[in-house]
Amino acid sequence: MSHAEQLDIAIVGAGAAGLAAGIFAAEAARAPGARRRIAILDGARKPGAKILVSGGGRCNVTNVEVTPEDYNGGSKTVIRNVLRAFDHRRTLAWMKDLGVELKLEETGKYFPVSDNAHTVLRALFDRLAQLGVEVRPSCRVTAIRPEEQGFRIDVAEGPSILARTLIMATGGLALPKSGSDGAGLVMLERLGHRIVPTTPALVPLLLGETAGPAGAYGELSGLTLDARLRLADAKGRAEAEYEGSLLFTHFGLSGPTALNISRHWLRRRLESPGERPPLLFGHPKLSTPQIADEWLRKAAAGNPRRHLAGTLHQLFPERLARVLAGDSDGPVGQLPRDRRLAVAQSLAALALNVTGDRGYTFAETTAGGVDLGDIDYASMESRRVPGLFLCGELLDVDGRIGGFNFQWAWATGYLAGRAAARRAA
Ligand SMILES: Cc1cc2nc3c(=O)[nH]c(=O)nc-3n(C[C@H](O)[C@H](O)[C@H](O)COP(=O)(O)OP(=O)(O)OC[C@H]3O[C@@H](n4cnc5c(N)ncnc54)[C@H](O)[C@@H]3O)c2cc1C
Repeated sequence: MSHAEQLDIAIVGAGAAGLAAGIFAAEAARAPGARRRIAILDGARKPGAKILVSGGGRCNVTNVEVTPEDYNGGSKTVIRNVLRAFDHRRTLAWMKDLGVELKLEETGKYFPVSDNAHTVLRALFDRLAQLGVEVRPSCRVTAIRPEEQGFRIDVAEGPSILARTLIMATGGLALPKSGSDGAGLVMLERLGHRIVPTTPALVPLLLGETAGPAGAYGELSGLTLDARLRLADAKGRAEAEYEGSLLFTHFGLSGPTALNISRHWLRRRLESPGERPPLLFGHPKLSTPQIADEWLRKAAAGNPRRHLAGTLHQLFPERLARVLAGDSDGPVGQLPRDRRLAVAQSLAALALNVTGDRGYTFAETTAGGVDLGDIDYASMESRRVPGLFLCGELLDVDGRIGGFNFQWAWATGYLAGRAAARRAA
């Protein structure tokens, strides 16, 4: 009978979190005589695909400022403690150690100077090779079972693998073609972990046809502008609000502002199925219809003969100004009051008819995942299964656009890797 392969630390998933965990586990286990057998198992033929496509192929590795408020999902206290243990400054220093030179852009995002995500992936792989950590591609894990001496890991092809400690870094469900299809969450649920229901996050939104300017997105396709999107609760209070670049497309909305608010819209719909909460579109400087009306009246007083579309063009690109002016494109000074109020409403809080999202295939990350209450945040060890460590997107945390998701992956990978090495010793 052949013996099953025995590892000290098995890491399932060679995405950002798993690769970081592998490096930090190996570094922590480097004491003389304490060499550990560590392998990272990944179902993909070429692991790291998500790093390569990230940030438009440039990989936005972190941000100039990272706070718990940049994240959604589970407890902010847990998020704060994790980020404190390995903050963005540590990421910068670590990347430097790995030989990745970074540059800060005006948006607060850090990218490799090479503007090429390959630089980051190559540096991670090189460091793992230096440390003697094997990255095993085409190794799909189908089940994990705690045993007396650790874990038995069943793989799709070949004999099971034994590991004394196990790090799960299988990601969420975003970009399934990269190999992250939620199978890890199913395995963790079987082991008793609570899974907060998942939805896509940082995903483009679909708009439906409707009368008036809110349905005219087809005419606006390709238009990028600065805007605010707000999701209001039943009483009209802002539940979530983002400002910044917004892109109209042939299907609806994309660009950072739409991506950032998408998870809030999808969570609301998850809580109230059948509801299609409107997203309120507005100009960043006009926070309420009253303020917009004031602006309109001032603009009309200043130049009453200017047409409405021309007046609105002071705020918005011409195409959008024409759509918002609609049929009433006469001199702005002659605009009847009720029409002026309707236009003011469109400038500050135009209710867009969002009908859905483009799904995990087009999502950058996953909202929901393993409940943070099921992990010890100092070590990322599961409270349900001792010796099992969790990191990355599979946890119930999702960041906004700007390098925050990688920061979460590096930080949780760091904690899980070090703690797993201590446990394996
Ligand atoms: C298009 C795009 C652009 C992005 N750009 C940025 C950006 O610029 N900055 C930023 O901060 N974030 C960005 N993100 C988000 C970021 O990529 C993720 O948050 C991050 O990669 C999550 O890392 P992870 O290691 O937790 O999961 P993943 O990267 O999803 O890795 C999980 C790995 O586990 C493997 N796996 C899954 N199940 C199994 C199994 N059963 N057996 C074996 N292996 C398995 C998968 O093959 C995969 O390699 C982007 C995401 C996308 C999709």
